Amino acid sequence: MKASFDDIFVTTTCPSQEQLLDYVQGKLSPEERHAIELHITDCEMCSEALEGLMAIQQKEKIPGWLRQMKWETLSKLRRKSRTRRPVDFKISLVVIVCAVIFLVLALFWTYYFYVRK
Ligand SMILES: [Zn+2]
Repeated sequence: MKASFDDIFVTTTCPSQEQLLDYVQGKLSPEERHAIELHITDCEMCSEALEGLMAIQQKEKIPGWLRQMKWETLSKLRRKSRTRRPVDFKISLVVIVCAVIFLVLALFWTYYFYVRK
């Protein structure tokens, strides 16, 4: 039981994003390269990730891009959570106020209409 858990753990130990980047950029030692190549034959996720990294021609810029992408996503999320809520709140408030005014006017108008008749 324990052995099979250990096996699962070993086969799912993926190299870090930095290790994959170092591999693509040729910064790893032959042993490390070999370890990653061995892992890739077993791991579809890592081999696909590596293919994607290799497809990018300007390999030196990858770490910067990743950081920038992360930063942009975070700042977008932050902007959304900051500005969206008050706007939605204001719009729904306007809609509610308009609906109440319309309802009061409609009631008043029908009441007035019936009384006059
Ligand atoms: Zn992997």
